[in-house]
Amino acid sequence: KAKSTLSITVVGASGDLARKKIFPALFALFYEDCLPEHFTIFGYGRSKMSDEELRNKISKTLTGRIDKRENCSDKMDQFLQRCFYYSGLYDSEENFSELDKKLKQKEGGRLPNRLFYLSIPPNIFVDVVRCASRCASSANGWTRVIVEKPFGRDSESSRELTRCFKQYVTEDQIFRIDHYLGKELVENLSVLRFSNLVFEPLWSRNYIRNVQLIFSEDFGTEGRGGYFDNYGIIRDIMQNHLLQILALFAMETPVSLHAEDIRNEKVKVLRSMRPLQIDDLIIGQYKGHLSGGKSYLGYTDDPTVPNDSLTPTFAAAALFVDNARWDGVPFLMKAGKALHNKGAEIRVQFRHVPGNLYKRNFGTDLDKATNELVIRVQPDEGIYLRINNKVPGLGMRLDRSDLNLLYKARYPKEIPDAYERLLLDAIEGECRLFIRSDEVDAAWALFTPLLNELEERKIAPELYPYGSSGPVGARNLAAKYNVRWGDLSDEDS
Ligand code: NAP
Repeated sequence: KAKSTLSITVVGASGDLARKKIFPALFALFYEDCLPEHFTIFGYGRSKMSDEELRNKISKTLTGRIDKRENCSDKMDQFLQRCFYYSGLYDSEENFSELDKKLKQKEGGRLPNRLFYLSIPPNIFVDVVRCASRCASSANGWTRVIVEKPFGRDSESSRELTRCFKQYVTEDQIFRIDHYLGKELVENLSVLRFSNLVFEPLWSRNYIRNVQLIFSEDFGTEGRGGYFDNYGIIRDIMQNHLLQILALFAMETPVSLHAEDIRNEKVKVLRSMRPLQIDDLIIGQYKGHLSGGKSYLGYTDDPTVPNDSLTPTFAAAALFVDNARWDGVPFLMKAGKALHNKGAEIRVQFRHVPGNLYKRNFGTDLDKATNELVIRVQPDEGIYLRINNKVPGLGMRLDRSDLNLLYKARYPKEIPDAYERLLLDAIEGECRLFIRSDEVDAAWALFTPLLNELEERKIAPELYPYGSSGPVGARNLAAKYNVRWGDLSDEDS
């Protein structure tokens, strides 16, 4: 039986994502002995580069996180020797046939498995899939394609993309990546819920008042607004990353941990959701701000953004899952750029304790007494449960306290980057953490009517200063549902 080999082609290897994430993740997998014994990595792009130039370019980002590793430079040399570059056009079958020849040379008669990572703008996805499948797919091993976001910009374009892909590859060859699903704490969501008796019985409208999914960045587009302006924060963060977390959070117990069983449950959640209503959405855009003697540019001051852009850089939304478990529970999403803090977290606010014996200790603000489970996805990964506790001493004073699982204290070993986990899964054919086409469809169905309405009516976003907590409207939206946003920078978190 011929020994197998793995060939990975990073399409768009000259780009930002390849340099910052994909090559470092591949190196980390190599370092941890997770790649097959025989493998080859090709960078592909229009830029002219020699193998040596590619190695030089990527070697700079292989350091950093991995400084702590031993024998790093030996391993790095071994890794770089397996990296090559081929310059070609994205729509040239001839160039992909040439690539195929080069791959064959390196594969040396072994049984080839081939992975193509599309780290390129979406307008050239289909060309590359066509050329790669026709001219550079494996004759007798597997061929898989990892596709970066954005997967379309509305229902129609995403369906069209899937239709075009399926002319050349089958659904099980397509790995639509949402790197949030590769994050440690997101993967842990199901473990927390389904392997601990104390959580699952509480996981419904009976005990949960609301769920918040929060994403903030403390910087703006900073000269990279070209891509963003065409998408905006709803498409860039909510429709994919936050919605995926919501689906995992809210799904029923899957039949098994098998990918299709999990994805079936996620898609049921998405299809049970009410399409987002305009009254349940607030959009914002950051404006320039002077702070501490430093001036921060507004979104439309970015030279890569049109001066009259109405693209939201902030959005807050209330969503509902209309099924028996979640009837009436608001799922509040908030995502923004150029805010006063950065991070991503899930906050679960529980109901008030009925007939609370200690209510006088909290005055009229019973919200302060509700339990809250916080899953901090990034940075400083952790899980904490806010409880009420007696302050030790004479008398009876209550205090809000946290049962706190801080990852860096409990698990000092470095957490692998999301791209490492997802690349390894794609290599192993595990598609649990990748998005199936019916999930993408259902996700777009929720947001497309509203996105169209925003664009048709040219609804102007509420301006908020760079470095602030976002538009006031977001607070009002939460108040409409009797909810207060938890804040990433809660002073006692
Ligand atoms: P990028 O740097 O803009 O593009 C990657 C490569 O694609 C470029 O080096 C360029 O290579 C080629 N390219 C760029 N524009 C092109 C065009 N108009 N026509 C043909 N080729 C073009 O993108 P990136 O930041 O690496 O991201 C790659 C993909 O991942 C994108 O789809 C992006 O949406 C997605 N993504 C990026 C990030 C991130 O952090 N950067 C995060 C999540 C998802 P050549 O000129 O050498 O051909």
